[in-house]
Amino acid sequence: MDYTEAKHRIGQLKAILWENSRKYYVENAPTMSDYEYDQLMHELEDLEREYPELATPDSPTRRVGSDLETASEGGFAKYPHRYPMLSLANTYSIEEVEEFAERAAKSLDRPFTWCCELKFDGTAICLTYRNGRLFRALTRGDGVQGDDVTANALRIANIPHRLQGSGYPEEFEIRGEVLMPYESFDRLNHEREVAEEALFANPRNAASGSLKLQDPEEVGRRGLFCTLYHIPTGQVDFPTHDQALQAAESWGLPVSHERRLCGSIQEIEAFIAHWDSARKDLPFATDGIVIKINEMAFQQQLGYTAKSPRWAVAYKFKAEQACTPILSIDYQVGRTGAVTPVANLEPVLLSGTMVKRATLVNEDQIRALDIHEGDWVYVEKGGEIIPKITGVEESRREPGARQPVFPQHCPDCGTPLVREEGEAKWFCPNSKGCPTQLKGRLEHFVSRKAMNILCGEATIEQLFQLNLLRRPSDFYALKAWQLVPLEGWKERAAARFLESVQASLAVPFERVLFAIGIRFVGETTARDVARHFGSMEALAAASKEELLAVPDVGDVIADSIFRFFRDPENLAELEALKAAGLRFSTENPASVADGPLSGKTIVISGNFSISRDEMKALIEQYGGKNSSSVSGKTDYLLAGTKPGPEKIRKAQELGIAIIDEDALHALIGAPAQADASPTLFEPTLF
Ligand code: NAD
Repeated sequence: MDYTEAKHRIGQLKAILWENSRKYYVENAPTMSDYEYDQLMHELEDLEREYPELATPDSPTRRVGSDLETASEGGFAKYPHRYPMLSLANTYSIEEVEEFAERAAKSLDRPFTWCCELKFDGTAICLTYRNGRLFRALTRGDGVQGDDVTANALRIANIPHRLQGSGYPEEFEIRGEVLMPYESFDRLNHEREVAEEALFANPRNAASGSLKLQDPEEVGRRGLFCTLYHIPTGQVDFPTHDQALQAAESWGLPVSHERRLCGSIQEIEAFIAHWDSARKDLPFATDGIVIKINEMAFQQQLGYTAKSPRWAVAYKFKAEQACTPILSIDYQVGRTGAVTPVANLEPVLLSGTMVKRATLVNEDQIRALDIHEGDWVYVEKGGEIIPKITGVEESRREPGARQPVFPQHCPDCGTPLVREEGEAKWFCPNSKGCPTQLKGRLEHFVSRKAMNILCGEATIEQLFQLNLLRRPSDFYALKAWQLVPLEGWKERAAARFLESVQASLAVPFERVLFAIGIRFVGETTARDVARHFGSMEALAAASKEELLAVPDVGDVIADSIFRFFRDPENLAELEALKAAGLRFSTENPASVADGPLSGKTIVISGNFSISRDEMKALIEQYGGKNSSSVSGKTDYLLAGTKPGPEKIRKAQELGIAIIDEDALHALIGAPAQADASPTLFEPTLF
């Protein structure tokens, strides 16, 4: 790869890694497997090693992924860590563990021991004890400062509020992981399924999402537990890491017993081999083994890189695999026009779920794996992310089996596909006419993180078929009289739908920018770009150089934004959206203050017909303010099914009005829910 290609690829990798890091740490909803993410990170590391002049200080290779939420998202207070909270260097290869051990032995040149531990797959936490009492709990945040989740940590059953025994320092930090056992995870997802809320991808995401709730009572109900594995050096005076952990245990702190001191690489490998299978019997998730130098003095001697300690490495277990035959291959068109081959599989059980389909990623991947029709293939899964085919069992191939032929035309609209230089995927270039792309963009536009219009896939399909919807601005032209006579619609459903379209006019500019679906402009980039330019007009007029001045915007993103605003159809659509009243600038956020809930502080508790996040967004859209605890300042306690008894009691005590979902709809001017269609905002079609 030459310099220009490397520069382009580095830009691409950074954009992909930043976006996925946010999905993983902040949204707790990754769309890529860890293995895939780690491979891309290693590719970036290699390229930066080869072209050091292209490595910038903000590269994801030099920063830990941040879980910090902005004030508008979470509103947790932020505090600095006394010592940076870093990540771990990781590898999926035993040879690299051996190399790491050899390097450490060489640079220390004295006898030392290893402490091998489980790599707990939860979310990191840093607890500070002051005078024997839990003083503060912080998330890892960006490694330098974390979100203050003390109120939540106090609800985690095995985190002691007070230490026992003696000999603990007056004040010290201890770090570990908050985990959700499989049993609690299954129960939580079952409850969410019943409440029609989005399911958590895996226990890690559930633990991390739970620790960031603004509702400590709910945190207490989530069945989380904590395991601690590190007291940063310099705070306690023990010669080894293992002794420090033993002391922590004697103070009543939860420390894992699944660790072993090893004197050789053979012992380390035996520990890894044991847990590779034994971990399947643990009641919680682990994703590897952490190998640490045990002697504190040697840890200090080796020190840290910007991102991880030099005295430890994580060996990561590969995801579980299953082997099953391919029944057929579909070629799916996404909202950007990218065509993805997807294999239909003989259903097979993998990590507790039945897998029927798996992505084949792109044409090169089909070639690289040498897939033939009817092949038995190995499937892997990372979280709920679409399973991926990782290999072929050639011994089971039928004689004469043919290689699949990648279509030359869009399977949806028939337009010849194109593959541009540097792109791994084939694209349908008919972005303005291909029905799947148009519908995909509409689905993206209405999604919760975008305009939050309460309209599902089936509704989009129906209105699209009837030619009532083609582009986002069409939502704002829809009238009740057009909807009410349609199959599956009733007056109430139409009123609620139109009400949510109207409410979307209050959505801030940064989300509007995300909603219009500029390629490579994810939520984070949209926010940064919106804040930088302040208005759609300023952004549309920006030169490439001006775009590149936004932190984290590289060539690829700048190019994509620049081109978007040079397309006359896009400009016409933006005009239509502007005329409809969407927020095109960061100014005048006051419009929400005019909503029917303006000036009202509402606490929600329990489950609703929409997710709790959606409910909070709805309240904000109508001008209300959400609060997590009932106090004298609360105007309403909005109680769903299974509300927190504590909250009800407190509201009753303070004489605060307790309302249900129907009453809320009455307040915001919509009809009561009594005879609405069963899924509140989605008209029943069948
Ligand atoms: P990591 O999870 O690979 O390892 C570091 C973390 O391990 C520590 O911060 C700590 O929280 C935890 N840990 C668990 N047991 C431990 C023990 N015994 N001792 C010390 N630490 C222990 O690193 P990370 O920085 O938290 O996350 C990076 C990883 O997250 C990536 O390698 C990738 O696998 C995943 N990720 C995935 C996506 C995605 O889209 N799938 C996105 C971002 C990150």
